[in-house]
Amino acid sequence: MTVTPAQLRALASRAETLAAEVRAACDTPADVRPGAPDPLVGARQAADWLTRAGDDLRQAATDLARTQVEPCAMTWAVCPDHGNTLTSMAGVSTCRVCGRSRPTPRPGEPCGAPVTWKVIDPAGTETRMCAGHILGARAVSHGATFIPLDQALT
Ligand SMILES: [Zn+2]
Ligand SMILES: [Zn+2]
Repeated sequence: MTVTPAQLRALASRAETLAAEVRAACDTPADVRPGAPDPLVGARQAADWLTRAGDDLRQAATDLARTQVEPCAMTWAVCPDHGNTLTSMAGVSTCRVCGRSRPTPRPGEPCGAPVTWKVIDPAGTETRMCAGHILGARAVSHGATFIPLDQALT
């Protein structure tokens, strides 16, 4: 099992909840001798540390998500810069926009480019894909939502 951004975010919210609980406890009056020094100074400081821990965990989740590379699993051929613009002939696919050609992938062969977007279709199904496949998907999807993964993390 490997650590996931979701796991770190869950820990972060536990730290935040704990910080809030400690603060709430410190705000309730304590039975102390008049003129005694505030015995809850350390507890308030602990709440600050917990808040700080939550922030650090959240930052770690973002960093982890950013560095994880997920290969695109789409199996239709695209130009990485222009999308669904390929013309295939004799085993070679050529982009109609930039003119670059590459061998036509075998049927069912996954794309493998890094995933940078997610698409949510009107039925709520989420598909993650690379920049080239997003361009192709935009051209054919109606009513789908396109979210860059960097934005989805915050
Ligand atoms: Zn192209
Ligand atoms: Zn792809």
